[in-house]
Amino acid sequence: MAKIRSGVHHLLRRDASHLEAYPAPQPLEDFARSVGVAPGDVVKLDQNENPYGCSPRVREALKVYEWFHVYPDPLHRELVARLGAYVDVPPSQIIVGNGSDELIELILHLFVEPGDRVLSAGPTFGYYTTAAQAVGADYRLIPRGPRFEVDEPALIQAIDGRTKVVFLASPNNPTGNATPQETIERLLGLDVLVVVDEAYFEFSGQSAVGFARDGAENLIVLRTFSKWAGLAGLRLGYGIFPASLVPVALSLKPPYSVGQAAEVAGLASLDDLPYLQANVKLILAERERLRDGLAATGFLTPHPSDANFILCDVVGRSAGEVQAALAKSAILVRRYDSPRLENSLRISVGRPEHTDRLLAALRDLT
Ligand code: PMP
Repeated sequence: MAKIRSGVHHLLRRDASHLEAYPAPQPLEDFARSVGVAPGDVVKLDQNENPYGCSPRVREALKVYEWFHVYPDPLHRELVARLGAYVDVPPSQIIVGNGSDELIELILHLFVEPGDRVLSAGPTFGYYTTAAQAVGADYRLIPRGPRFEVDEPALIQAIDGRTKVVFLASPNNPTGNATPQETIERLLGLDVLVVVDEAYFEFSGQSAVGFARDGAENLIVLRTFSKWAGLAGLRLGYGIFPASLVPVALSLKPPYSVGQAAEVAGLASLDDLPYLQANVKLILAERERLRDGLAATGFLTPHPSDANFILCDVVGRSAGEVQAALAKSAILVRRYDSPRLENSLRISVGRPEHTDRLLAALRDLT
């Protein structure tokens, strides 16, 4: 066979060199090795994971499950039925995904052709950018107001004849604030698809699902098991879609993107709601203690949060230096360099002992 020497780069799509990969954090084990501690001794407050882990019933269910050699049900009927009961919507409105990330992609594939406009309110979740670029969208971030509230008039003004989708994370990552239901209701009156991303719903208790129950036909609500249920590593998200969209959406979705392990884990989590909800309560209580401790440092200004993390402005010193100093104490936090967040850190809420170690390390910096 003749060897093709020139490679295939000339065959790539024309915008390939402009695509932005989603940043890949250093693996926990690598980081632990680099600072000379065991992985279990790292205080990991950089990715909004659940510091209490998953339900013990998940481990048990995965241990005894006998059918991992068989393909999962591509419609995930059992899980979808249980999610319908959990959310209180008909199961015919639910699609599960390989994390809510997959559903963000699926929605964009379903609605967006190259050049169509996709909007969000920034700063916000970075994967919207990556996924919107992947479909060639004209993706625009409408700057949020002084308290990171959605600038509704500016957002509405940016909606033009080619605007297909508006993504609103509520609570928003990384700013932590939920979007008022009135804002969502007003957007639902416009001729666009409104995607309300409720990855942190269980921490805020505020949801747009009521509009779905009332029959909103241009609303999709996204949820995930990554945060409240501690399944970030198993990848399980779901969306509440208008029932009429579900068949066409499923026609674009890979049939087996959600693995059987994720389905088993999701079902076991739904069997253990009191346990998981008790951990959510612990996280909410700890969030208040963390906020007070951060404010007391004198160089961090925490923003209000409806989620399991707190965004802080760093005042009078560099966020990068604070992050690097914490890393030396085996503490991971997230730093941003995007507009409005040039000198900010996002700190996930951990267990009380994590807060203690973080605050002690921050005190050493003063
Ligand atoms: N939406 C938001 C707002 C998020 O913060 C995240 C996770 N960081 C996701 C979606 C993706 O979650 P998942 O793990 O379900 O893909």
